[in-house]
Amino acid sequence: MTDLEKFDVPDIIPVLPVRDMVMYPSVILPLFVGRDMSINAVEKSLSRDRLIFVASQKDLTDEDPLPSRIYSIGVVSQIMRMLRLPDGRVKVLIQGIKKARIEEYVQETPTFLARISTIEEPVITEITLEIEALMRYVKEEMEKVVSMGRMVPPDILMVLDTIDEPGRLADVAAANLGLTVDNAQEVLEIVDPVKRLRRLSEILGKEIELLNVQAKILSQAKEEMSKSQREYFLREQMKAIRTELGESDERSEDVEDLKKRIKKAKMPKDVEKEANKQLERLDMMHPDAIESTMVRTYIEWLVELPWSVSTNDSIDIKQAREILDEDHYNLDKVKERILEFLSVLKLKGEIKGPILCFVGPPGVGKTSLGKSIARAIGKKFVRISLGGMKDEAEIRGHRRTYVGSMPGRIIQSIKQAGTNNPVFMMDEIDKIGNDFRGDPASALLEVLDPEQNNAFSDHYLNVPFDLSKVMFITTANRIDTIPSALKDRMEVINIAGYTEKEKLQIAKKYLVPKQLKENGLNEKRLEIADHAMEKIIQEYTREAGLRNLEREIAAISRKVARKVAEGNRKKVMITVKGLHNYLGPSRYLPESQLEKDLLGVATGLAWTEFGGDTLYVEASCRKGKKDLLLTGNMGDVMKESVQAALTYIKSRADKLGIKKEIFNDLEMHVHVPQGAIPKDGPSAGITMAVAMISAITRRSVNRNIAMTGEITLTGRVLAIGGLKEKTLAALRNRMEKVIIPQENIHELVEIPSYVKKKITFLPVKNMNEVLEIIFGKKRR
Ligand code: ADP
Repeated sequence: MTDLEKFDVPDIIPVLPVRDMVMYPSVILPLFVGRDMSINAVEKSLSRDRLIFVASQKDLTDEDPLPSRIYSIGVVSQIMRMLRLPDGRVKVLIQGIKKARIEEYVQETPTFLARISTIEEPVITEITLEIEALMRYVKEEMEKVVSMGRMVPPDILMVLDTIDEPGRLADVAAANLGLTVDNAQEVLEIVDPVKRLRRLSEILGKEIELLNVQAKILSQAKEEMSKSQREYFLREQMKAIRTELGESDERSEDVEDLKKRIKKAKMPKDVEKEANKQLERLDMMHPDAIESTMVRTYIEWLVELPWSVSTNDSIDIKQAREILDEDHYNLDKVKERILEFLSVLKLKGEIKGPILCFVGPPGVGKTSLGKSIARAIGKKFVRISLGGMKDEAEIRGHRRTYVGSMPGRIIQSIKQAGTNNPVFMMDEIDKIGNDFRGDPASALLEVLDPEQNNAFSDHYLNVPFDLSKVMFITTANRIDTIPSALKDRMEVINIAGYTEKEKLQIAKKYLVPKQLKENGLNEKRLEIADHAMEKIIQEYTREAGLRNLEREIAAISRKVARKVAEGNRKKVMITVKGLHNYLGPSRYLPESQLEKDLLGVATGLAWTEFGGDTLYVEASCRKGKKDLLLTGNMGDVMKESVQAALTYIKSRADKLGIKKEIFNDLEMHVHVPQGAIPKDGPSAGITMAVAMISAITRRSVNRNIAMTGEITLTGRVLAIGGLKEKTLAALRNRMEKVIIPQENIHELVEIPSYVKKKITFLPVKNMNEVLEIIFGKKRR
């Protein structure tokens, strides 16, 4: 205080606004002054009494603070020294003299001039115990702050030690603590020295708490760091131990090799990260540990998947047509649809449309069409069968926690394909099951859904694989058992089966050359005469497709191959007569045709997943108690059709020329002889009705007419499915006429014309028309 009396503090004084700091009385500070206004203030002060009013800005980002943005309480200070810097700024050393308040600004440019009034502090006359304690506390806490690493001028503790005035102590401590401007200003503004010191002690306490927390965070970070250092150290040690044990070379070579392969596989970033992580784990494990094998297998899977290997697809529609023709006889409609599909694919450039689904009996060429498609557009071909698949894990794989777990069939096949854009055929999609182990169909849905399959997740891989470039094709024997959510995604292409004539052609042009080649023969070694081939088709196979036929041809070829190998030099000619030497006795007699028209026997046509078939319905009646007796090869739906047919007959008895009383004690027996394949469906309805009416009215049924159609209680005839397959079966059985529901008439365009030449189709709307055809008009 005494020093200050030397100064005559003027009323009006230049103002120096400062940022980021607060000036206190009796403190000496260097300041850099850059702003024009501030330099003017300094110059003005120097030209007068070297006194200047230092006040803090409220906002340190303010370049040109208005008076209202400058705290009004500040410190009258003296400029002790001034130095001009080359960049235009000036450096001043100032000493705080006296606290004062700005009363008003009297000038704002080129520099602030303000009228001030000094602030007088109450004089402390006695240092009480409390003040003493407070001062000691502040000094100790300041020591703590310094010991905790807060940057303060090095000799400040010594300076503080010599201060015995509470107000000054508060000022000097506050000036050196590096407080925020708000806090520092708050301290400055407290006039009472003891209160000021108390407030400072509180702020100090908080600062220490803060420093404590900071220290904790720092030590955690350090711990992290030392952990990884430790790991590094241990790893180095392990390397050393391995080298001692003589393991190192082999193992590190192995790891190095895998590392290279990971790089080469060009995986997506996340996958590569995972692969490297696993590789690190592997590197640390003992090579003989089971886990080590598991991790290794996993990495092998990752590096072997075609993450970025694809074939260059070139869809040339003309060439595709040629290849399809080269591999398949006829099937014109199917080929057309495949070519349309490929054309769309070519134009759109992405596989996002529906999925092709070939539906038809076994051996009609579904698989080989898939192969042809792949060949035609230069893609790889892979195939899995979904038949009987019940466990979702078969599609998605098992988690790696199992020993011996593997990726699912999808990822396995992709690896087998070696490219990420193959043609992927899924067979028997109609035979997919589900049980407690999950629903493979829903997993499959994810595989086939273009919205989801770009990130297909296999449980084993645990990283997504992009299936969006894969061209999926499915096959099925029947359509009604395909889960409907899957069916919605499919574009169904039906392949019905082949006639005997077609089979002969296919055998000659495709199957025989193929089998000759596969058995190391050629046409100079073996020839199968047409008649012999026809006999094979009729008596050694009974199928809509060509599987067994091909098998029989293969059997003959093998036998001939053996003969050739044993030295036979002559060409072997297979004739009808010699056939049994190669294939044994006939397996099927020609389809048994009825020798004459019979009472109560009607010929129906059935559809099964193996193709069409004939179906003889026998009915017989006698007096008895039981209304209806059903035996033979009948499914539930078929049994219901018999009931419906009988109800119809009863209700129309008079029109049919049947006495009503007959039904009082009529026992009707309907029987469907056991065929190889169980049959069911409503389409035998009219056949049942015809057989029963024939039995009751004792009029025989024309054996050359086959029929198919569902019957209603009122005698209407409803549409049926599988017309093409049924027609082929009728042809095989040498039927001349086929009764079909009127509603199916539009499907006749699909029947080849040479079939239509042999079979007359008789469309009907109701039972009257059926009976007219079967029994003739006048006799009804
Ligand atoms: P699916 O997959 O329908 O059961 P495949 O594709 O296995 O039937 O066909 C059985 C055999 O018949 C294959 O050797 C196939 O090449 C042959 N094949 C089927 N349809 C034809 C056809 N239209 N032309 C030539 N060969 C055919």
